[in-house]
Amino acid sequence: MAAVNFVIIGYGGMGSYHEKNLMSSEKEKINLVGVYDILEERQEVARAKGLSTYESFEEVLADKRIEVVLIAVPNDLHKSMSIAALKAGKHVVCEKPATLNTEEFDEILAVAADTGNRFIVHQNRRWDPDFLIVRDLYQSQPIGSVFQIESRVNGANGIPGDWRHLKKHGGGMLLDWGIHLLDQMLWLVDSPIKDVQVDFSYVLGDEVDDGFISFITFENGIKAIVEVGTTNYVKLPRWYVKATEGTARIDDWDLSGEMVRAIQTSNETMPQPIQAGVGLTKTMAPPSEDATETLSLPKASAEYDSFYSNVYHVIRDDVTPIVKNTEVRNVLQLIEQMFEQEE
Ligand code: NAD
Repeated sequence: MAAVNFVIIGYGGMGSYHEKNLMSSEKEKINLVGVYDILEERQEVARAKGLSTYESFEEVLADKRIEVVLIAVPNDLHKSMSIAALKAGKHVVCEKPATLNTEEFDEILAVAADTGNRFIVHQNRRWDPDFLIVRDLYQSQPIGSVFQIESRVNGANGIPGDWRHLKKHGGGMLLDWGIHLLDQMLWLVDSPIKDVQVDFSYVLGDEVDDGFISFITFENGIKAIVEVGTTNYVKLPRWYVKATEGTARIDDWDLSGEMVRAIQTSNETMPQPIQAGVGLTKTMAPPSEDATETLSLPKASAEYDSFYSNVYHVIRDDVTPIVKNTEVRNVLQLIEQMFEQEE
């Protein structure tokens, strides 16, 4: 079957990433017809790379060859551009966050339903290798049943760029990185949320949050801490996972880390008290050597199709998208609930 004809709208950081890394790996399934950016300098960069450019968004929508419009513009433009593309008879792949709230999201879904065109959100971090390891720990239980998951990203560069600093463009870290981490967590745990508490940070003095820490309790009893920081000069681990028989830590996207599992021994060896600061402790002493084993983190890969291949099959073969709109909506609803706690 023929490759699906794509256009990229917004040839900034993420638009060019789509073009460079993703499209080129799915050449038989995705055909990039051209790009459009409102900035002439970005159009020139695209042309210099041999890409075709359009003069306007309207010209894109009028091009009968285009089947999928990939929206990679600032967050506040996702809704209007997605709706215009759907109405013009195109399918839409939209960057995260799909919209700024559930109301906007429902407006898009209503148009998608009316027109019969697909709307798919690029929640690409469901394919992150570090996430896939945690998913394997959760599902295969090599350290027992997981009961607490901590997921963090820590940067020290503040909020990058221009529009991410402004509320009207949907800036702030909850909508930027938070949406990725929450999408991963909700997809992984797959249980309704019983309670959420959030604390936003405004260290940089912007009108939008530069980070947050959230505590989520799921109805199945699992607890999660999800945290984003942009002023952390010393990083905490990307993941810290506690299970009934062990603990796992993944330090970073380089997948360094370890997994320590308790060993059932017949002669139970008690830990010896250690000097701790100016006191003594047995509780916090390291476990005796024969009580635990240190294991490498499991190797994990996605048993599901890649994002772009899935989009191709959704369009050509009508398969179910991996990123479902009900899931995207649940994450947006949780984010709304978090923002409400600020008011
Ligand atoms: P960016 O500022 O680098 O790029 C945005 C581009 O959109 C700019 O080149 C700008 O000129 C262009 N633009 C603005 N208004 C436009 C319009 N009306 N028509 C056409 N072009 C227009 O921002 P970015 O970092 O590339 O982010 C873009 C989107 O991608 C955001 O929604 C962001 O959340 C998302 N994103 C996703 C990931 C991911 O991993 N999924 C990573 C980064 C960014």
